[in-house]
Amino acid sequence: MSAPQSSTPRPSAPAARSHRIETRLVQDGILRSPFGETSEALYLTQGYVYDNSAQAEARFKGEDCGYQYSRFANPTVSMFESRMASLEGAEAARATATGMAAVTVALLGQLKAGDHVVASKAMFGSCRYVIEEFLPRYGIPSTLVDGRDLDQWRRAARPTTKTFFLESPTNPALEVIDIEAVAEIAHQAGATLLVDNVFATPLWQSPLTLGADCVIYSATKHIDGQGRCLGGVVLGSTKFIIDHVHTLIRQTGPSMSPFNAWVLLKGLETLAVRVRGQTDNAAACAVALAEHTKVSRVIYPGRPDHPQAAIVRRQMRGGSTLVAFEIDGGKAAAFRFQDALRLVRISNNLGDAKSLITHPATTTHQRLKQAQLDELGISDGLVRLSVGLEHPDDLIEDLLAALAVV
Ligand SMILES: *Cc1c(COP(=O)(O)O)cnc(C)c1O
Repeated sequence: MSAPQSSTPRPSAPAARSHRIETRLVQDGILRSPFGETSEALYLTQGYVYDNSAQAEARFKGEDCGYQYSRFANPTVSMFESRMASLEGAEAARATATGMAAVTVALLGQLKAGDHVVASKAMFGSCRYVIEEFLPRYGIPSTLVDGRDLDQWRRAARPTTKTFFLESPTNPALEVIDIEAVAEIAHQAGATLLVDNVFATPLWQSPLTLGADCVIYSATKHIDGQGRCLGGVVLGSTKFIIDHVHTLIRQTGPSMSPFNAWVLLKGLETLAVRVRGQTDNAAACAVALAEHTKVSRVIYPGRPDHPQAAIVRRQMRGGSTLVAFEIDGGKAAAFRFQDALRLVRISNNLGDAKSLITHPATTTHQRLKQAQLDELGISDGLVRLSVGLEHPDDLIEDLLAALAVV
Protein backbone atom coordinates (compact mmCIF):
# COMPACT_ATOMS: atom_id res chain seq x y z
CA MET A 1 0.00 0.00 0.00
CA SER A 2 1.54 3.26 -1.04
CA ALA A 3 0.94 5.85 1.63
CA PRO A 4 1.19 9.28 0.08
CA GLN A 5 3.58 11.75 1.59
CA SER A 6 1.66 14.05 3.84
CA SER A 7 3.80 17.15 3.71
CA THR A 8 4.33 17.26 -0.05
CA PRO A 9 1.90 16.91 -2.97
CA ARG A 10 0.04 13.63 -2.82
CA PRO A 11 0.09 11.59 -6.01
CA SER A 12 -3.48 12.20 -7.09
CA ALA A 13 -2.91 11.97 -10.83
CA PRO A 14 -4.83 9.06 -12.33
CA ALA A 15 -2.94 5.86 -12.96
CA ALA A 16 -4.55 5.27 -16.35
CA ARG A 17 -5.90 8.33 -18.14
CA SER A 18 -6.86 6.11 -21.06
CA HIS A 19 -9.81 4.64 -19.17
CA ARG A 20 -13.21 6.17 -19.74
CA ILE A 21 -15.03 8.18 -17.09
CA GLU A 22 -17.30 5.32 -15.95
CA THR A 23 -14.29 3.09 -15.34
CA ARG A 24 -12.34 5.77 -13.51
CA LEU A 25 -15.34 6.51 -11.27
CA VAL A 26 -15.34 2.90 -10.06
CA GLN A 27 -11.65 1.97 -10.08
CA ASP A 28 -9.36 4.97 -9.64
CA GLY A 29 -7.69 6.09 -6.46
CA ILE A 30 -8.10 2.88 -4.43
CA LEU A 31 -5.45 2.40 -1.72
CA ARG A 32 -5.98 -1.28 -0.92
CA SER A 33 -4.80 -2.43 2.51
CA PRO A 34 -2.96 -5.74 3.12
CA PHE A 35 -6.40 -7.29 3.80
CA GLY A 36 -7.30 -6.97 0.13
CA GLU A 37 -10.77 -5.56 0.73
CA THR A 38 -12.96 -5.11 -2.38
CA SER A 39 -14.61 -1.90 -1.23
CA GLU A 40 -12.69 1.21 -0.27
CA ALA A 41 -11.78 1.01 3.43
CA LEU A 42 -13.04 3.56 5.91
CA TYR A 43 -10.08 4.75 8.00
CA LEU A 44 -11.96 6.39 10.83
CA THR A 45 -8.92 7.56 12.73
CA GLN A 46 -7.68 10.89 14.01
CA GLY A 47 -4.02 10.03 14.21
CA TYR A 48 -1.34 7.54 13.17
CA VAL A 49 1.33 5.76 15.24
CA TYR A 50 5.02 5.73 14.39
CA ASP A 51 7.37 2.73 14.67
CA ASN A 52 9.90 4.81 16.58
CA SER A 53 10.95 8.35 17.42
CA ALA A 54 13.19 8.66 14.38
CA GLN A 55 10.27 7.82 12.09
CA ALA A 56 8.09 10.44 13.77
CA GLU A 57 10.87 13.00 13.27
CA ALA A 58 11.35 12.01 9.64
CA ARG A 59 7.64 12.22 8.95
CA PHE A 60 7.38 15.71 10.39
CA LYS A 61 10.39 16.71 8.28
CA GLY A 62 8.59 15.34 5.21
CA GLU A 63 11.39 12.81 4.62
CA ASP A 64 9.19 9.79 5.31
CA CYS A 65 6.00 8.93 3.44
CA GLY A 66 2.99 8.46 5.62
CA TYR A 67 0.18 10.06 7.50
CA GLN A 68 0.46 12.21 10.64
CA TYR A 69 -2.95 13.54 11.54
CA SER A 70 -6.31 13.48 9.78
CA ARG A 71 -6.65 17.26 9.63
CA PHE A 72 -3.63 17.07 7.25
CA ALA A 73 -4.51 13.90 5.36
CA ASN A 74 -6.31 10.58 5.77
CA PRO A 75 -6.21 7.50 3.52
CA THR A 76 -9.97 7.44 2.85
CA VAL A 77 -9.95 11.16 2.08
CA SER A 78 -6.88 10.61 -0.18
CA MET A 79 -8.83 8.00 -2.14
CA PHE A 80 -11.67 10.48 -2.66
CA GLU A 81 -9.23 13.20 -3.74
CA SER A 82 -7.46 10.87 -6.19
CA ARG A 83 -10.70 9.71 -7.76
CA MET A 84 -11.95 13.29 -8.10
CA ALA A 85 -8.65 14.40 -9.69
CA SER A 86 -8.87 11.53 -12.15
CA LEU A 87 -12.48 12.34 -13.00
CA GLU A 88 -11.74 16.04 -13.54
CA GLY A 89 -8.43 15.56 -15.35
CA ALA A 90 -6.73 17.61 -12.62
CA GLU A 91 -3.20 17.12 -11.33
CA ALA A 92 -4.28 17.57 -7.72
CA ALA A 93 -7.32 17.80 -5.47
CA ARG A 94 -8.03 18.66 -1.86
CA ALA A 95 -11.25 17.68 -0.10
CA THR A 96 -13.06 20.00 2.29
CA ALA A 97 -15.87 19.65 4.81
CA THR A 98 -18.44 21.42 2.60
CA GLY A 99 -18.73 23.05 -0.79
CA MET A 100 -18.59 26.48 0.86
CA ALA A 101 -15.31 25.52 2.56
CA ALA A 102 -13.97 24.66 -0.91
CA VAL A 103 -15.05 28.03 -2.35
CA THR A 104 -13.71 29.97 0.65
CA VAL A 105 -10.36 28.16 0.65
CA ALA A 106 -9.93 28.56 -3.13
CA LEU A 107 -10.55 32.32 -2.79
CA LEU A 108 -8.74 33.11 0.48
CA GLY A 109 -5.77 30.95 -0.50
CA GLN A 110 -5.05 33.23 -3.45
CA LEU A 111 -6.02 36.60 -1.99
CA LYS A 112 -4.62 39.17 0.40
CA ALA A 113 -5.73 42.65 1.45
CA GLY A 114 -5.64 45.02 -1.52
CA ASP A 115 -6.44 42.36 -4.12
CA HIS A 116 -9.62 42.56 -6.21
CA VAL A 117 -12.08 39.91 -7.40
CA VAL A 118 -14.39 39.93 -10.43
CA ALA A 119 -17.37 37.60 -10.23
CA SER A 120 -20.53 36.85 -12.11
CA LYS A 121 -23.61 38.12 -10.22
CA ALA A 122 -25.60 34.98 -10.82
CA MET A 123 -24.24 32.54 -8.29
CA PHE A 124 -25.13 30.34 -5.37
CA GLY A 125 -26.36 32.54 -2.47
CA SER A 126 -23.52 31.74 -0.02
CA CYS A 127 -20.84 32.26 -2.70
CA ARG A 128 -22.29 35.71 -3.35
CA TYR A 129 -22.25 36.38 0.42
CA VAL A 130 -18.56 35.41 0.69
CA ILE A 131 -17.55 37.64 -2.22
CA GLU A 132 -19.89 40.57 -1.57
CA GLU A 133 -20.01 40.74 2.25
CA PHE A 134 -17.16 38.72 3.71
CA LEU A 135 -14.08 39.45 1.53
CA PRO A 136 -14.46 43.28 1.83
CA ARG A 137 -14.03 42.95 5.62
CA TYR A 138 -10.48 41.80 4.88
CA GLY A 139 -9.78 44.58 2.39
CA ILE A 140 -10.64 42.56 -0.72
CA PRO A 141 -13.17 44.43 -2.87
CA SER A 142 -15.05 42.85 -5.74
CA THR A 143 -16.91 43.83 -8.88
CA LEU A 144 -19.99 41.82 -9.85
CA VAL A 145 -20.78 41.55 -13.55
CA ASP A 146 -23.39 40.01 -15.81
CA GLY A 147 -21.36 36.90 -16.63
CA ARG A 148 -22.97 36.54 -20.06
CA ASP A 149 -21.56 39.90 -21.20
CA LEU A 150 -17.84 39.46 -21.98
CA ASP A 151 -17.30 43.24 -22.15
CA GLN A 152 -18.34 43.58 -18.53
CA TRP A 153 -15.63 41.07 -17.50
CA ARG A 154 -13.04 43.02 -19.55
CA ARG A 155 -14.05 46.37 -18.11
CA ALA A 156 -14.13 45.14 -14.51
CA ALA A 157 -10.51 43.92 -14.45
CA ARG A 158 -8.06 46.16 -12.54
CA PRO A 159 -4.29 45.92 -12.06
CA THR A 160 -5.02 44.44 -8.61
CA THR A 161 -7.48 41.81 -9.90
CA LYS A 162 -6.22 38.40 -8.75
CA THR A 163 -9.09 36.12 -9.62
CA PHE A 164 -12.30 35.78 -11.64
CA PHE A 165 -15.09 33.63 -10.23
CA LEU A 166 -18.10 32.15 -11.99
CA GLU A 167 -20.58 29.29 -11.95
CA SER A 168 -22.22 27.90 -15.09
CA PRO A 169 -25.01 26.97 -15.46
CA THR A 170 -25.99 29.47 -12.80
CA ASN A 171 -28.25 29.06 -9.82
CA PRO A 172 -31.20 29.29 -10.12
CA ALA A 173 -31.93 30.68 -13.61
CA LEU A 174 -29.56 28.27 -15.43
CA GLU A 175 -27.80 30.96 -17.47
CA VAL A 176 -24.70 29.70 -19.25
CA ILE A 177 -21.38 31.57 -19.33
CA ASP A 178 -18.67 31.12 -21.97
CA ILE A 179 -15.91 29.65 -19.77
CA GLU A 180 -13.23 29.60 -22.48
CA ALA A 181 -13.77 33.30 -23.31
CA VAL A 182 -13.78 34.37 -19.64
CA ALA A 183 -10.61 32.32 -18.98
CA GLU A 184 -8.87 34.18 -21.79
CA ILE A 185 -9.93 37.58 -20.42
CA ALA A 186 -8.82 36.57 -16.91
CA HIS A 187 -5.41 35.44 -18.12
CA GLN A 188 -4.91 38.62 -20.19
CA ALA A 189 -5.61 40.56 -17.00
CA GLY A 190 -3.06 38.46 -15.10
CA ALA A 191 -5.79 36.83 -13.01
CA THR A 192 -6.86 33.23 -12.46
CA LEU A 193 -10.30 31.78 -13.21
CA LEU A 194 -12.17 29.78 -10.58
CA VAL A 195 -15.22 27.81 -11.71
CA ASP A 196 -17.94 26.44 -9.44
CA ASN A 197 -18.98 23.42 -11.53
CA VAL A 198 -21.70 22.07 -9.25
CA PHE A 199 -24.66 22.56 -11.59
CA ALA A 200 -22.86 21.10 -14.64
CA THR A 201 -21.38 18.12 -12.75
CA PRO A 202 -18.01 16.62 -13.75
CA LEU A 203 -19.88 14.40 -16.22
CA TRP A 204 -21.11 17.22 -18.47
CA GLN A 205 -18.45 19.94 -18.19
CA SER A 206 -14.67 20.08 -17.64
CA PRO A 207 -13.69 23.69 -16.89
CA LEU A 208 -9.95 22.91 -16.63
CA THR A 209 -9.90 21.85 -20.28
CA LEU A 210 -11.72 25.12 -21.12
CA GLY A 211 -8.92 27.14 -19.51
CA ALA A 212 -10.01 27.49 -15.87
CA ASP A 213 -7.23 27.37 -13.26
CA CYS A 214 -9.30 25.88 -10.48
CA VAL A 215 -12.58 24.00 -10.20
CA ILE A 216 -14.61 23.61 -7.05
CA TYR A 217 -17.50 21.30 -6.18
CA SER A 218 -19.99 20.96 -3.45
CA ALA A 219 -19.80 17.15 -3.19
CA THR A 220 -23.02 17.47 -1.19
CA LYS A 221 -24.93 17.64 -4.48
CA HIS A 222 -24.59 15.09 -7.33
CA ILE A 223 -21.39 13.48 -5.98
CA ASP A 224 -23.21 12.16 -2.91
CA GLY A 225 -26.49 12.38 -4.79
CA GLN A 226 -28.39 10.51 -2.12
CA GLY A 227 -28.89 13.22 0.47
CA ARG A 228 -26.49 12.03 3.19
CA CYS A 229 -23.21 13.94 3.59
CA LEU A 230 -21.83 17.41 3.11
CA GLY A 231 -18.50 17.72 1.33
CA GLY A 232 -16.44 19.79 -1.06
CA VAL A 233 -13.38 19.58 -3.25
CA VAL A 234 -10.90 21.99 -4.85
CA LEU A 235 -9.11 20.85 -8.02
CA GLY A 236 -6.31 22.33 -10.12
CA SER A 237 -2.68 21.98 -11.10
CA THR A 238 -0.27 20.70 -8.46
CA LYS A 239 1.23 24.19 -8.36
CA PHE A 240 -2.15 25.86 -7.77
CA ILE A 241 -3.09 23.41 -5.01
CA ILE A 242 0.29 23.59 -3.26
CA ASP A 243 0.61 27.38 -3.54
CA HIS A 244 -2.94 28.28 -2.52
CA VAL A 245 -4.88 25.39 -0.97
CA HIS A 246 -2.74 22.69 0.67
CA THR A 247 -1.33 24.62 3.62
CA LEU A 248 -4.47 26.68 4.23
CA ILE A 249 -6.56 23.53 4.72
CA ARG A 250 -3.93 21.83 6.91
CA GLN A 251 -3.46 24.83 9.16
CA THR A 252 -7.01 26.17 9.40
CA GLY A 253 -8.88 22.85 9.41
CA PRO A 254 -11.86 22.80 6.99
CA SER A 255 -10.88 19.17 6.34
CA MET A 256 -13.26 16.47 5.15
CA SER A 257 -14.31 13.76 7.59
CA PRO A 258 -13.09 10.28 6.55
CA PHE A 259 -16.62 8.97 7.04
CA ASN A 260 -17.98 11.52 4.57
CA ALA A 261 -15.12 10.76 2.15
CA TRP A 262 -16.10 7.09 2.27
CA VAL A 263 -19.77 7.82 1.55
CA LEU A 264 -18.77 10.18 -1.28
CA LEU A 265 -16.41 7.56 -2.79
CA LYS A 266 -19.33 5.14 -2.97
CA GLY A 267 -21.40 7.97 -4.47
CA LEU A 268 -18.80 8.48 -7.21
CA GLU A 269 -19.16 4.83 -8.29
CA THR A 270 -22.71 5.54 -9.47
CA LEU A 271 -22.29 9.21 -10.48
CA ALA A 272 -22.37 8.64 -14.24
CA VAL A 273 -25.44 6.39 -14.11
CA ARG A 274 -27.32 8.74 -11.80
CA VAL A 275 -26.46 12.00 -13.60
CA ARG A 276 -27.36 10.46 -16.98
CA GLY A 277 -30.69 9.18 -15.63
CA GLN A 278 -31.50 12.46 -13.90
CA THR A 279 -30.58 14.47 -17.01
CA ASP A 280 -32.84 12.31 -19.21
CA ASN A 281 -35.67 12.75 -16.70
CA ALA A 282 -35.09 16.52 -16.53
CA ALA A 283 -35.17 16.82 -20.33
CA ALA A 284 -38.49 14.91 -20.37
CA CYS A 285 -39.94 17.19 -17.64
CA ALA A 286 -38.76 20.27 -19.59
CA VAL A 287 -40.65 19.09 -22.68
CA ALA A 288 -43.87 18.50 -20.71
CA LEU A 289 -43.58 21.86 -18.91
CA ALA A 290 -42.84 23.83 -22.09
CA GLU A 291 -46.10 22.59 -23.60
CA HIS A 292 -48.21 23.70 -20.62
CA THR A 293 -50.30 26.86 -20.88
CA LYS A 294 -49.74 27.84 -17.22
CA VAL A 295 -45.95 27.80 -17.67
CA SER A 296 -44.74 31.02 -19.25
CA ARG A 297 -41.05 30.12 -19.58
CA VAL A 298 -38.87 27.00 -19.32
CA ILE A 299 -35.10 27.35 -18.97
CA TYR A 300 -33.23 24.14 -19.67
CA PRO A 301 -29.61 23.97 -20.93
CA GLY A 302 -29.99 21.35 -23.61
CA ARG A 303 -33.12 22.76 -25.25
CA PRO A 304 -32.59 24.62 -28.52
CA ASP A 305 -34.58 27.58 -27.10
CA HIS A 306 -32.08 28.12 -24.25
CA PRO A 307 -30.68 31.69 -24.62
CA GLN A 308 -27.08 30.40 -24.74
CA ALA A 309 -27.79 27.18 -26.65
CA ALA A 310 -24.73 27.64 -28.87
CA ILE A 311 -22.39 27.90 -25.85
CA VAL A 312 -24.07 24.88 -24.25
CA ARG A 313 -23.31 22.82 -27.38
CA ARG A 314 -19.70 23.98 -27.35
CA GLN A 315 -18.77 23.56 -23.69
CA MET A 316 -21.13 20.95 -22.23
CA ARG A 317 -21.46 17.25 -23.01
CA GLY A 318 -25.00 17.01 -21.67
CA GLY A 319 -27.90 19.12 -20.44
CA SER A 320 -28.74 19.49 -16.79
CA THR A 321 -30.43 17.65 -13.96
CA LEU A 322 -32.18 20.97 -13.16
CA VAL A 323 -35.04 22.75 -14.87
CA ALA A 324 -36.08 26.31 -14.03
CA PHE A 325 -39.54 27.48 -15.02
CA GLU A 326 -41.92 30.33 -14.46
CA ILE A 327 -45.51 29.79 -13.46
CA ASP A 328 -48.12 32.33 -14.54
CA GLY A 329 -49.56 34.13 -11.54
CA GLY A 330 -46.46 35.00 -9.51
CA LYS A 331 -45.72 33.93 -5.94
CA ALA A 332 -49.27 32.80 -5.06
CA ALA A 333 -49.43 30.52 -8.10
CA ALA A 334 -45.91 29.18 -7.49
CA PHE A 335 -46.76 28.39 -3.85
CA ARG A 336 -50.08 26.69 -4.84
CA PHE A 337 -48.21 24.64 -7.42
CA GLN A 338 -45.44 23.55 -5.03
CA ASP A 339 -47.91 22.74 -2.27
CA ALA A 340 -49.98 20.55 -4.63
CA LEU A 341 -47.01 18.35 -5.59
CA ARG A 342 -47.12 14.87 -4.07
CA LEU A 343 -43.97 13.17 -5.35
CA VAL A 344 -41.66 16.15 -5.82
CA ARG A 345 -40.81 17.56 -2.37
CA ILE A 346 -40.09 21.14 -1.38
CA SER A 347 -36.40 21.49 -0.48
CA ASN A 348 -33.61 23.92 -1.33
CA ASN A 349 -31.15 21.03 -1.91
CA LEU A 350 -30.36 19.68 -5.37
CA GLY A 351 -28.70 16.83 -7.24
CA ASP A 352 -30.51 14.23 -5.13
CA ALA A 353 -32.02 10.93 -6.35
CA LYS A 354 -35.29 12.34 -4.99
CA SER A 355 -36.86 15.16 -7.01
CA LEU A 356 -36.83 18.47 -5.12
CA ILE A 357 -38.29 21.87 -5.87
CA THR A 358 -37.66 25.34 -4.49
CA HIS A 359 -38.99 28.88 -4.95
CA PRO A 360 -35.72 30.89 -5.06
CA ALA A 361 -37.22 34.36 -4.48
CA THR A 362 -38.50 33.36 -1.02
CA THR A 363 -35.78 30.84 -0.03
CA THR A 364 -32.22 30.69 -1.40
CA HIS A 365 -32.29 34.27 -2.78
CA GLN A 366 -34.47 35.87 -0.10
CA ARG A 367 -31.55 38.10 1.00
CA LEU A 368 -31.44 39.93 -2.35
CA LYS A 369 -33.29 43.18 -3.08
CA GLN A 370 -35.99 43.38 -5.75
CA ALA A 371 -33.67 45.08 -8.27
CA GLN A 372 -31.06 42.35 -7.78
CA LEU A 373 -33.69 39.62 -8.24
CA ASP A 374 -34.87 41.31 -11.45
CA GLU A 375 -31.30 41.42 -12.76
CA LEU A 376 -30.93 37.70 -12.17
CA GLY A 377 -34.24 36.80 -13.76
CA ILE A 378 -35.60 35.52 -10.44
CA SER A 379 -39.26 36.41 -10.83
CA ASP A 380 -42.01 35.73 -8.28
CA GLY A 381 -43.26 32.84 -10.40
CA LEU A 382 -39.86 31.13 -10.90
CA VAL A 383 -39.29 27.68 -9.42
CA ARG A 384 -36.17 25.52 -9.65
CA LEU A 385 -36.75 21.79 -10.04
CA SER A 386 -33.94 19.33 -9.29
CA VAL A 387 -34.98 16.18 -11.09
CA GLY A 388 -34.31 12.82 -9.45
CA LEU A 389 -34.32 9.19 -10.46
CA GLU A 390 -38.04 8.44 -10.19
CA HIS A 391 -39.83 7.21 -13.34
CA PRO A 392 -40.20 10.25 -15.63
CA ASP A 393 -43.89 9.50 -16.29
CA ASP A 394 -44.63 9.62 -12.55
CA LEU A 395 -42.80 12.94 -12.27
CA ILE A 396 -44.61 14.45 -15.25
CA GLU A 397 -47.99 13.25 -13.89
CA ASP A 398 -47.17 14.91 -10.55
CA LEU A 399 -46.14 18.20 -12.23
CA LEU A 400 -49.24 18.28 -14.48
CA ALA A 401 -51.60 17.43 -11.61
CA ALA A 402 -50.15 20.27 -9.53
CA LEU A 403 -50.33 22.71 -12.45
CA ALA A 404 -54.01 21.79 -12.85
CA VAL A 405 -54.83 23.26 -9.40
CA VAL A 406 -53.00 26.54 -10.02
C1 LIG B 1 -24.57 23.79 -2.70
C2 LIG B 1 -23.69 24.65 -3.50
C3 LIG B 1 -22.56 25.25 -2.92
C4 LIG B 1 -22.20 25.09 -1.45
O1 LIG B 1 -22.02 23.76 -1.09
P1 LIG B 1 -22.27 23.22 0.42
O2 LIG B 1 -21.83 21.80 0.33
O3 LIG B 1 -23.72 23.40 0.70
O4 LIG B 1 -21.43 24.04 1.32
C5 LIG B 1 -21.78 26.06 -3.72
N1 LIG B 1 -22.09 26.27 -5.02
C6 LIG B 1 -23.18 25.72 -5.60
C7 LIG B 1 -23.46 26.01 -7.02
C8 LIG B 1 -24.01 24.89 -4.87
O5 LIG B 1 -25.08 24.35 -5.43
